[in-house]
Amino acid sequence: MKIALIAHDKMKPEMIEFARKYKDLLKNHELVATGTTGHKIIAATGLNIKCFRSGPLGGDQEIGSRVANGEIDMIFFFRDPLTAQPHEPDVSALLRLSDVYKIPLATNISTAEHIIHKLD
Ligand code: PGA
Repeated sequence: MKIALIAHDKMKPEMIEFARKYKDLLKNHELVATGTTGHKIIAATGLNIKCFRSGPLGGDQEIGSRVANGEIDMIFFFRDPLTAQPHEPDVSALLRLSDVYKIPLATNISTAEHIIHKLD
């Protein structure tokens, strides 16, 4: 499966813990990420991840274009619900596209824990 990993700044520690916990599952899949999230996960886990631009600089839109092209099967997007994001329109666009194409998308750790067990 092709899996996208994205985390807003305050959620990055949670994403890194999640990636550490499920490294053995995630390593069997093709991983992509927004720039900062991806580089931090690589540093913490050694997972092989293709990193796009940082989210605020277009990374969410790059992932959205892959969704539109049928190139993403699952998204883990740990959003910060308490902090305004300068790229909120890009975030909304990615959420919308994931609904258009019916891609499973977890926006918090609880949902992520549920859907990651669908990976084999
Ligand atoms: P980042 O982008 O991984 O480059 O920080 C995530 C985001 O804020 O969309």
